Amino acid sequence: MPHQSDHQSNTGVVIFDHPLITHKMATIRDKDTGHRLFRAALSQIAGLMVYEVTRSLPTQMIEVETPMTTTSCVILCGTITIVPVLRAGLGMIDGILEIMPEARVGHLGLARDEQTLEPHAYLNKLPVDLDAGPVILVDPMLATGGSASAAITMLRQAGASDIRMICLVASPEGIERMRQDHPDVTVYAAALDERLNEKGYIMPGLGDAGDRMYGTVN
Ligand code: URA
Repeated sequence: MPHQSDHQSNTGVVIFDHPLITHKMATIRDKDTGHRLFRAALSQIAGLMVYEVTRSLPTQMIEVETPMTTTSCVILCGTITIVPVLRAGLGMIDGILEIMPEARVGHLGLARDEQTLEPHAYLNKLPVDLDAGPVILVDPMLATGGSASAAITMLRQAGASDIRMICLVASPEGIERMRQDHPDVTVYAAALDERLNEKGYIMPGLGDAGDRMYGTVN
């Protein structure tokens, strides 16, 4: 499936270059794509990415009785928790749950505190036993990395020890922030873009993912 960059173990970053993913990325980058198609393509990309992300999840061997005989099978072990960062992360959930319907979903809503300018959680709804298995944080845009970094700190405080992140578009600045703050968290991105602009948007990017997904673009 997707190309797994050779430098993943050194940098903790995996950039996908599978044609199915790049094709759908072209759709969501296009300014003329409406919210219905945008949402569908974004969800599909998330599903395709989870296929590769799960490659590194813990597995165990079990015995299964087929109608013919008994055989050994490899299954995922541990309870997997997906945590979208609201609002835009919600758009990735359906695609992921289609591939992993048994995963749990926690929710983190982050907003910038106007006094401190730091992200703070207005919603923190996570399973109590987050250490029961891998936790996958999902947010389509890794821009400054501020909210992703804060979200991972919250996941750790809630007990998570095995954390990965899936985003669609990452900026070099966001990747750098993640490497500084959380070097043990592998970031999976469908695309690594050029830079942030002065307003913190990713260039060339796709605009505001939440607005484009929900049709709230002004
Ligand atoms: N959030 C978005 O939705 N888009 C960006 O380009 C950056 C942050």
